Amino acid sequence: MAAPHDTVFDAEGPLIVGAGLAGLFTALKLAPAPVTVISPVPLGGGASSAWAQAGVAAALAEGDTPEAHARDTVAAGAGTVDEAIALSVAREAAACIEDLIRFGTPFDRDAAGRFVQSREAAHSAHRVVRVKGDRAGKAIMEALIAAVRATPAIRVVEGLEVDDLALAEGRVAGVFARRAADPWAAPILFRAANVVLATGGVGGLYAVTSNPPGVAGQGLGLAARAGAAIGDPEFVQFHPTGIAVDRDPAPLVSEAVRGEGATLIDDTGARFMPAIHADAELAPRDVVARAIHARIAAGHRVYLDARAAIGARFAEDFPTVHAHCAEAGIDPATEPIPVAPIQHYHMGGVRTDASGRASLAGLWAVGEVACTGLHGANRLASNSLLEAVVFGARIAEALAGSDGGALRGTLPAPAPATRTVPEAAARTLRRTMSADVGVVRDAPGLARALATLARLEREAAGAPRAFLNMTTAATLIAAAALGRTESRGGHFRADHPAPDPGKARPTAITLAEALEIRAQAEEAA
Ligand SMILES: Cc1cc2nc3c(=O)[nH]c(=O)nc-3n(C[C@H](O)[C@H](O)[C@H](O)COP(=O)(O)OP(=O)(O)OC[C@H]3O[C@@H](n4cnc5c(N)ncnc54)[C@H](O)[C@@H]3O)c2cc1C
Repeated sequence: MAAPHDTVFDAEGPLIVGAGLAGLFTALKLAPAPVTVISPVPLGGGASSAWAQAGVAAALAEGDTPEAHARDTVAAGAGTVDEAIALSVAREAAACIEDLIRFGTPFDRDAAGRFVQSREAAHSAHRVVRVKGDRAGKAIMEALIAAVRATPAIRVVEGLEVDDLALAEGRVAGVFARRAADPWAAPILFRAANVVLATGGVGGLYAVTSNPPGVAGQGLGLAARAGAAIGDPEFVQFHPTGIAVDRDPAPLVSEAVRGEGATLIDDTGARFMPAIHADAELAPRDVVARAIHARIAAGHRVYLDARAAIGARFAEDFPTVHAHCAEAGIDPATEPIPVAPIQHYHMGGVRTDASGRASLAGLWAVGEVACTGLHGANRLASNSLLEAVVFGARIAEALAGSDGGALRGTLPAPAPATRTVPEAAARTLRRTMSADVGVVRDAPGLARALATLARLEREAAGAPRAFLNMTTAATLIAAAALGRTESRGGHFRADHPAPDPGKARPTAITLAEALEIRAQAEEAA
């Protein structure tokens, strides 16, 4: 058998893992200094960034201010946002939008050349720069990919997936990657003095998600296994209106459809939101998600009814949603759309400082895999693309001139995989997370989930590391959710339904601590 890492490369400059907006923008900001980007699939595929519909939040409209944007961010985050981070990010938004334009993004403008900005839930102003209505993510990614391809300093390695961080002398010294299509492939060592994780969110840990396949908490898991501190993992955002047509990933009906007056009804034809919140269908995302979840748990089906409010205008006003409905054989002009809450975004992640630096020397995190303190317990709409670019720029600035110093020695390789993971194990993990670590949680369910994760991990001993990264990320979310005995933002505990003012602070947890909580839960079960 070949030695575990026969193949060794020295990355040129910092090594970026992941090629969504966070990874590519960081690379472009680092250039013309050399930089290497690893992507499991050809650029453009496999990234939530390309699927973003609304756009990027930035206080650019007349009368709007970064201070107002920061206030809205803090309010949405339900008491745990780092206010200094929120203000600094809002202030740096304009410069990052300029960068995106310089890299080729054709943001919508009016005849006078001003940005056309949409208004989204919980924003006090029209603040979201967009492209062709609901095509922002696709357009931004196309522009950035073209810019990356035209930048010789950026070396893109496609077709590799990273499973482990390489550690030496108390710091991160590179990564172990393998051919993405082959979990059995021998690890390839990429040595680098600085590794920037940009691997996105945790959608694939849940039974149904809006995230592309392959975005499954890998970066979170591998960073935690290497000892990095993890922030706020319990805070997961569920989008209330995934189209419930048995598809995974599931397409979304954007909030704007409810903004136009579409109503939520159950299979008796009755509206239920007015009895739950004064803003009815336009209540905060987590409130609407829980209301739909409760209706479905009570045995009903739930629909978004746009017939009266939008009707024949639907195809023209919401082309992306209309196309998704059409694929499922639904005509939203004449039929209500079946909907259900689905996993959408992870507020938690690898804890970083204001420059994007993680707790392990040599490790950085940017985009959805990071927890910078911006989102707190709940993300304000369209702040995630903004966070990706602001922190990408900060990491590039912090790394400027520091590309040398990679270790040259051999590094201990992870043990090769010896057996396969039954497909059923991944399905069990995802179902468990949706059932017991989902929209509504309680102590017995969380303890049950932790016990299941422990069992799955034991049964998968010797399996490829990608699965261990998933059980690790899931364990962090469930353990932190068990520890937070209150409800706040995206985290709702049926057994502790109110917020506890004494707990209005971020979570910091290591894998060792999460495993301790898991062992106790298993013992008690
Ligand atoms: C349908 C949808 C609509 C959205 N709309 C908006 C919006 O309008 N505005 C907004 O601000 N946010 C929106 N979001 C959220 C936003 O798109 C994401 O939070 C953001 O794009 C994350 O960017 P990223 O670069 O961190 O991750 P991604 O874009 O998900 O990229 C992750 C990259 O990491 C790679 N990767 C993963 N694991 C590994 C591994 N082990 N090894 C190597 N590479 C790996 C992936 O292949 C991918 O290239 C939306 C999300 C979805 C799903």
